[in-house]
Amino acid sequence: MQKGKINVQTENIFPIIKKFLYSEHEIFLRELISNAVDATQKLKTLASLGKYNGDISDLTIEVSLNKKKKTITVKDKGIGMNSEEVDKYINQIAFSSAEEFIKKFKTKSESEMNTIIGHFGLGFYSSFMVSDKVEIFTKTYQSRGNTKAVYWECDGSPDYSMDESDKKDRGTEVILHVADDSKDYLEESKLLEILNKYCKFLPVPIRFGDEKVWETVEGETDKDGNPKQVEVEKPRIINNTSPLWKKKPADLKEEDYKSFYRELYPYTYEDPLFWIHLNVDYPFNLTGILYFPKVKRNLEVQKNKIQLYCNQVFVTDSVEGIVPDFLTLLHGVIDSPDIPLNVSRSYLQSDPNVKKISNHITKKVADKMESLFKENREDFEKKWDDIKVFIEYGVISETEFYDRAKKFCLLKTTDSKYFTFEEYEKHVGPSQKDKDGQLIYLYATNEQDQYSFIQSVKERGYDVLLMDGIIEAHFINTLEQKFEKTRFTRVDSDTVDKLIKKDDVLPSKLTEDQQKVLKDLMETQIDAKKFTITFESLSEKELPLLVTQNEFMRRMKDMSALGGGGGYSFMGEMPENYNLVVNSNNPVIGRLLLESDNVKQGETVRQLFDLSLLAQNLLKGKELAEFIRRTTEKM
Ligand code: ADP
Repeated sequence: MQKGKINVQTENIFPIIKKFLYSEHEIFLRELISNAVDATQKLKTLASLGKYNGDISDLTIEVSLNKKKKTITVKDKGIGMNSEEVDKYINQIAFSSAEEFIKKFKTKSESEMNTIIGHFGLGFYSSFMVSDKVEIFTKTYQSRGNTKAVYWECDGSPDYSMDESDKKDRGTEVILHVADDSKDYLEESKLLEILNKYCKFLPVPIRFGDEKVWETVEGETDKDGNPKQVEVEKPRIINNTSPLWKKKPADLKEEDYKSFYRELYPYTYEDPLFWIHLNVDYPFNLTGILYFPKVKRNLEVQKNKIQLYCNQVFVTDSVEGIVPDFLTLLHGVIDSPDIPLNVSRSYLQSDPNVKKISNHITKKVADKMESLFKENREDFEKKWDDIKVFIEYGVISETEFYDRAKKFCLLKTTDSKYFTFEEYEKHVGPSQKDKDGQLIYLYATNEQDQYSFIQSVKERGYDVLLMDGIIEAHFINTLEQKFEKTRFTRVDSDTVDKLIKKDDVLPSKLTEDQQKVLKDLMETQIDAKKFTITFESLSEKELPLLVTQNEFMRRMKDMSALGGGGGYSFMGEMPENYNLVVNSNNPVIGRLLLESDNVKQGETVRQLFDLSLLAQNLLKGKELAEFIRRTTEKM
């Protein structure tokens, strides 16, 4: 029996391992199983090189739970270790790397520690997060030299003991004696949950107990003549050793991708819109599949569904900094041994490797979109409502993506026609310019609410874009910066006559004195702080009074409501301000001036004003109720 101290350099690290890293304790299992997988893969490699010719027909790793003895065991049939190796790898290397890890991060806050340990495990010593004693039985694959099996034991103090063991079969068995404060891990359901989270796609079969399955008995039928089914107990293998992303795209069918999507997200019922299979080996290594889901209105719940793997070991599902922000809405898997996992987020974002990966993914996504657009525009248009959020998000946030997307990003009109940027400029360019020659793109954000404005604009032969997406206020801002001499204005932000240059301006039917009289009259009925009164000579057919809202102010407000507008939050407190446009040419306005009864005059103004509010969806609550009462009485 050999006894010794693992380490003499610093204080005892076990209490630190245990206390400091409390919320990510579950990763101990991932760490042990990863080691078991590594040892198994090494054996396979040796066998393929002809350096090992023992039996490798069954390399299943077994995880087992003994509730009575309060143990969890991870057993592999990998390369194993002899006593020198245990001494070197477990007593020295593993310990000093665990120690180094602790030292490096001890100064960080607990939450930072927890994210770091989630990404970069402590290795073997993480087992002490949940155990008060750990035993190893191991026997090397080698048949010459020091081949005796080894027993190792450590009770959570720096003292360990090592001895010979009578273990007969090749491989390593690690037994954790679960500490009282970690009893949760002695539940089968808990272990199964952890295995499903971290080990679902590991490349070596992992067995966790048995499960009951129904099997068809060959050549036998039940009383109804159906093939006979019997319930049998079978080893429960918790992982899929060759996940789809590792396969060649050429060998896969549409259904394979769809069923893998269901495997990844068992609780999602909708099929993805389409997907991209990533396969890069230079200048970095990366495989994966990205799915485009049907996006719901609430973006936040969609986010963070991409799972990041490192050689098929689950690392995290928070991929911020690795994929461009706009792609965090995608679902799927990214697997790369080249993503540095042992660093903090801020570092990740500036890492050149990560930047390259991010650029590559952006490029792939743009390529896919472009080919979908080119190959079948009709189908692309059909999908547009579902995919526009990705594209618009990309256009807003990534210049590189905009440069690609301008070829396939579409603008949809209220008549459900679709145009590329270039096409739309040609479409409205000749007719929709202001007096300075600037292009005016008219848009609506809600077809119902802005109905009367849309109609009035269309009657004059102008075109209206439908911008009713979730992030459209930001999108419009971006396009205004990118397009030359182009301005977006919502249909209700000003009168079209003011926006778009016309050759034939109608003369006003009102003198300045008459305008003054009317203005004073209006001000007795409306809140002059909220409404700025102006006069315009519009067509006779236009309403007598129109309420419009300044484009800039409204857009800022929309953006601050959306959040993430880049410091516009103060806009929420801005006073609401509207224009009240009096149409000098509407006959009702003329008659209003002639009315001699002051009370009647006031009532008419109120009525006209309420109607203009109604057209803007601004008449609400008490005012609306009063309007209805008054109108009903009149009838
Ligand atoms: P890492 O896996 O990051 O190298 P660990 O602390 O987990 O660090 O393990 C240290 C070393 O111990 C491994 O590199 C390996 O050489 C050895 N080892 C751990 N577990 C096993 C095992 N199940 N079979 C064989 N060797 C193992």
